[in-house]
Amino acid sequence: MMDKLVKATAKNGDVRIIAAITTDMVNEGVKTHKCAPTAAAALGRMLTAGALMGAQLKSDKDSITLKINGGGIAKSVTVTSYSDAHVKGYIANPNADLPVNSKGKLDVGGIIGKNGSLLVIRDMGLKEPYVGQVPIYTGEIGDDIAYYYVNSEQTPSAVGLGVLVDKDLSIKAAGGFIIQMMPGADDLVADLITYRLEEIPSITDLIVKGMSIEDILEFIFEDMDLKILDEGIVPKYRCDCSRDRVEKALISIGMKDLKEIYDEGKQEEIVCNFCNKKYIFSNKEIGSLIEKLENNK
Ligand code: ZN
Repeated sequence: MMDKLVKATAKNGDVRIIAAITTDMVNEGVKTHKCAPTAAAALGRMLTAGALMGAQLKSDKDSITLKINGGGIAKSVTVTSYSDAHVKGYIANPNADLPVNSKGKLDVGGIIGKNGSLLVIRDMGLKEPYVGQVPIYTGEIGDDIAYYYVNSEQTPSAVGLGVLVDKDLSIKAAGGFIIQMMPGADDLVADLITYRLEEIPSITDLIVKGMSIEDILEFIFEDMDLKILDEGIVPKYRCDCSRDRVEKALISIGMKDLKEIYDEGKQEEIVCNFCNKKYIFSNKEIGSLIEKLENNK
């Protein structure tokens, strides 16, 4: 089934839904970073959460960055996404892996750890980004995002994220949903949805069966007046780094360090965390950069 993201409502707009199949997108990210199975599931869940949350942004200039660090062997996972659901991300330790947990699932909570926090950074093009932070709840990521919505945005939410890793380490299925209760919604509706979500198979099982994202929503929200609002958003893994941006990062190390590199006759290599692309600044280029900065003073 092809990747696709949809927004929908149920129960006359009392329930807001955003859901996606993200198999190809996650596969691209996991391949880029050559992840071990548990690391692949962790990065894949974060990328999927990023795509879902990014699609809620109002302007195409806005971005949202999620960062989770629970002191586990994964170290940290960072994802940035935009309103067109294009996403980039990385896991600090792509080799992080553990035996499956007691439920027979990849132990994402185990590699993330529980001693730390989830950061949600919303950059709306203002001077300062808006930063929300919650302590890690389970480290399974879906639970942590739900906990963030309840605590930081006072929005009761159910978040489901799934990544199925195949034996050859490719992604067999990935997807997720965020279901939110609007203010004034009936508590019984929330209870009904919670009950349904407990009863149904995981989202990856439904994707493997060949169900589309619309089929999956029809299945969850049967008899709940489901309305799919807009279709055709395709989540994509894409890095937007450029030599210009990397140059800004190089400048941010400070004049003193730049001069030191230059005086020692060295070049500087910067690797993009998100796509592993290498940018090399020769000694001569660092010299002209210093000159340019001094002339701009
Ligand atoms: Zn890049």
